[in-house]
Amino acid sequence: MTTPPSTPFIPFALPDIGDDEIAEVVDTLKSGWITTGPKTRRFEEDFSAFLGAPNPAEAPLHAMAVNSATAGLHLALEALGIGPGDEVITTTHTFTATAEVVRYLGADVVLVDIDPATLCIDVAAVEAAITPRTKAVMPVHYAGLAADMAALLPLARRHGLKVVEDAAHALPTTCGGRLVGTLASDATVFSFYANKTMTTGEGGMVVTRDAGLAKRIQVMRLHGINRDAFDRFTAKVPSWYYEVTAPGFKYNLTDIASAIGIHQLKRASAFQQARADIAGRYDAAFADLPVITPPQPLPGNTHAWHLYVLRLADDAKLTRDELIDGLYAAGIGCSVHYIPLHLQPYWRDRYQLQPQQFPHSQRAYERMLSLPLYTRMGPAEVQRVIDAVRSLLG
Ligand SMILES: *Cc1c(COP(=O)(O)O)cnc(C)c1O
Repeated sequence: MTTPPSTPFIPFALPDIGDDEIAEVVDTLKSGWITTGPKTRRFEEDFSAFLGAPNPAEAPLHAMAVNSATAGLHLALEALGIGPGDEVITTTHTFTATAEVVRYLGADVVLVDIDPATLCIDVAAVEAAITPRTKAVMPVHYAGLAADMAALLPLARRHGLKVVEDAAHALPTTCGGRLVGTLASDATVFSFYANKTMTTGEGGMVVTRDAGLAKRIQVMRLHGINRDAFDRFTAKVPSWYYEVTAPGFKYNLTDIASAIGIHQLKRASAFQQARADIAGRYDAAFADLPVITPPQPLPGNTHAWHLYVLRLADDAKLTRDELIDGLYAAGIGCSVHYIPLHLQPYWRDRYQLQPQQFPHSQRAYERMLSLPLYTRMGPAEVQRVIDAVRSLLG
C-alpha cells in the first residue's frame, strides 16, 4: 500500500544540518586542507570546552576526534592493553559495535543482561560475571539515559577493572549532575553517525583524562606515527620526517567532517531540548495506553533522548510487529533498538548464548519499538505519530 501524497512519510530519524554547517564545509573545501587539520583541532577543543571548563582538582580532558565511535572504542581498549586471554563485560542490549571491538583485539566478550527499569547494563549482573580474566567493563548509556555509574564505577575500582563508556547515545547526558564524558571512567566514546544526537556523517570522539592513554590513542589513530619523535631533535628537523612506532590504524577524522561537527556541537543543547520536548509530548499522549513509556532520568539529570523506546504492556491488543506494520501503513517509520547480541548468530554461536540467560533484554526486545524522534520533527508530525499509535493501541 502506498502512502497518499498528503501524508508524507515520517522517517524514524533525520539529520539536522544548518546553513552554518554547510558554509563551514564549503570553507574547508576551498581552503586546500580537507583531511585532519585545523578544523579537527578546533572541533576537539570545542568538544573539551563543551564538556566543561578545566577543573583544577582534576587532570585535563583530552578529546580526540576519530572517524567513528567504533574506531574510538577500539582505540580506547587497545590503549588500555586489552588483548588475548582478557574478558570485557558489556550489555547484550546494544549495537554490535560495542562488542566487536573487543574481538578485534582477540579478547573475549562477556554479555550480561539489562536492568529492566533503565534498559542499561545491570550492575549486579556485571558483578556476577567478573572472573580473574575480566579486564574491563563497557556500559552503554542506552537511548541517552545514563547507566548506573554511581554503582558501576566503585564496583570496577574494587575489582581493578577499566571502564570504557559507550556514549554513542549520550550527548548531552548527565549522571549525578555531571556530563557523561567527565565521569571517573578511563575513556568515553561518542558517535557522530548520521542518526545520532549530533552528526558529522560519520565520526566519533574519544575523551579521557589519562594523558598516557591519550598519547597512545593519538599515535594509534594515525598509523602509529609518533609526533613526539620530533621532540628529540632540534628545530633543524626536516618537516618531512616522522617515526612509525607501532602498526597503527587509519581512524583520523577529516576536516570536512569536523567542519560539520563544529556547528552541530554549538546546537547540541538546543537539539537536546527539542528532543526532550517531543519525548515529553509522547509520554503525556501515551500515559493511558497499554505501554511502558521510556525510563526517565533521575531528578536533576539530563537525558539526551537519542531514542524514544516504547514497550508494549501485556494487555496490549497488538504485537510489536503488528504495531510497526500499522505505523508503516500510516506512513510512519520506526525501528527496534536492538536485536540483542545474544540473538545474533555470531555472538550466539561463539558464546553458546540462550535467551533465558538474558530475560530482561529478551522481554524488552520482544515488546519494544523506537518511534520517530528528530529535531526537525514539527508539532504536526509529532501529532501524526501520536494519533497513529493511539488509534492502533487505544
Ligand atoms: C551508533 C553506535 C555505535 C557505533 O557508532 P559509529 O560512530 O557508527 O561507529 C556504537 N555503540 C552504540 C550503542 C551505537 O548506537
